[in-house]
Amino acid sequence: MTMINRKLFNSEHAIFRDNVARFMREQVVPNDEKWQERGFVSKNIWRQAGKIGFLCVGIEKKYGGADADKCYSMILIEEQAKANITSLGFGVHSDIAAPYIQNYGNSALKNKYLPKMVSGELIAAIAMTEPSTGSDLQAINTTAKKHEDHYILNGSKTFITNGWNCDVVIVVAKTDPTKGSKGTSLFVVDADTDGFSKGKRLKKIGLKGQDTCELFFNNVKLPKENMLGYENDGFIYLMQELPWERLQIAIGAVAKSQAAIDWTIKYVQERSVFGKPVSHFQTTRFRLAELATEVQIAQVFIDRCLEMILDDKLDAATASMAKYWTTDLECKVVDECLQMHGGYGYMWEYPIARAYVDARVQKIYGGTNEIMKELISRSIGLGVDRK
Ligand SMILES: Cc1cc2nc3c(=O)[nH]c(=O)nc-3n(C[C@H](O)[C@H](O)[C@H](O)COP(=O)(O)OP(=O)(O)OC[C@H]3O[C@@H](n4cnc5c(N)ncnc54)[C@H](O)[C@@H]3O)c2cc1C
Repeated sequence: MTMINRKLFNSEHAIFRDNVARFMREQVVPNDEKWQERGFVSKNIWRQAGKIGFLCVGIEKKYGGADADKCYSMILIEEQAKANITSLGFGVHSDIAAPYIQNYGNSALKNKYLPKMVSGELIAAIAMTEPSTGSDLQAINTTAKKHEDHYILNGSKTFITNGWNCDVVIVVAKTDPTKGSKGTSLFVVDADTDGFSKGKRLKKIGLKGQDTCELFFNNVKLPKENMLGYENDGFIYLMQELPWERLQIAIGAVAKSQAAIDWTIKYVQERSVFGKPVSHFQTTRFRLAELATEVQIAQVFIDRCLEMILDDKLDAATASMAKYWTTDLECKVVDECLQMHGGYGYMWEYPIARAYVDARVQKIYGGTNEIMKELISRSIGLGVDRK
């Protein structure tokens, strides 16, 4: 299919893309079924990815990163989606957790964690959501109380990606519970700190190879140097980082949608019904024509959002539009593509079956699509005071 020429990428990006695609094909795909069955990936794949420079690509060179532009992160997300791999939590580690440490950590934290995160020796997670609250982040109950030169962390988190494998986690906690969002701070917590424990791996309907987990903090003593940035400014940092997190979800959604269309185009040409290929039915051709059109439109918008990120100009509302619209589109595309596979689409051995169950969560995590619409409505002058 003729795709609109994507001007974001140069010849070095193209070489990088080929290398990532080969890594997925040769190192990841052959192991993925095993990881899905047991619910977590091997730590070895993290080290292999680190060794060839596929983790934390945007991190500064002095910490071992490549200081690469976000096109490289986009390529990593796209190639993972095209290979139909959702077991790897590389994005959370490289493009969500690591930037918090780089952007808000003191030099001791950066020196301690970033080089080992780049090499894959340490696996990172980020813990915002709690059993009683996800969308309403201001209502979290985890507290970090100051005591002389340290903080005491208490509370629990849930649904944490990389939670079971993680060596280090960025924890969102209240340092002043009387102040709502203005009493929130971020901490870097080592997984082997006394009082920190991991719960069971959660059984999910999709993303089966990803180790999503509960985390518990029981009087965890943290040196005050483990705080990111300033006390009570955590919410500001979250708001600064979330647009990129949401765009990453959108990038994956568009790439997976395109992959689903590609698999389906092939399938409907090979499968014969009533003595002719399924692709000969006008309804099949028109449906795929419509989906291909919508995915190209989405791609143009997402590429524009990436340009905005490169210029440091992606605002919260535009990122929310991208996240909500493309993940809704992904769910529609995988549903309709599965339908065109008939009963085989419901069989696990067909990539569309897995894409179908993996897609559903895209509308939920990173802020639900309802919350995205809240943010967009505020940006068009329809904000409602929260009491
Ligand atoms: C597989 C997976 C991985 C995840 N990974 C992480 C992670 O690594 N780190 C992390 O911190 N969290 C993670 N999450 C948590 C995720 O971000 C939350 O599930 C999400 O933010 C929603 O929160 P909730 O589940 O508490 O739903 P709730 O907040 O309870 O929402 C329930 C429903 O109410 C709707 N709703 C809520 N508020 C409004 C409103 N104002 N207007 C209209 N509707 C509203 C929601 O849209 C939703 O439909 C993950 C979740 C999953 C499933």
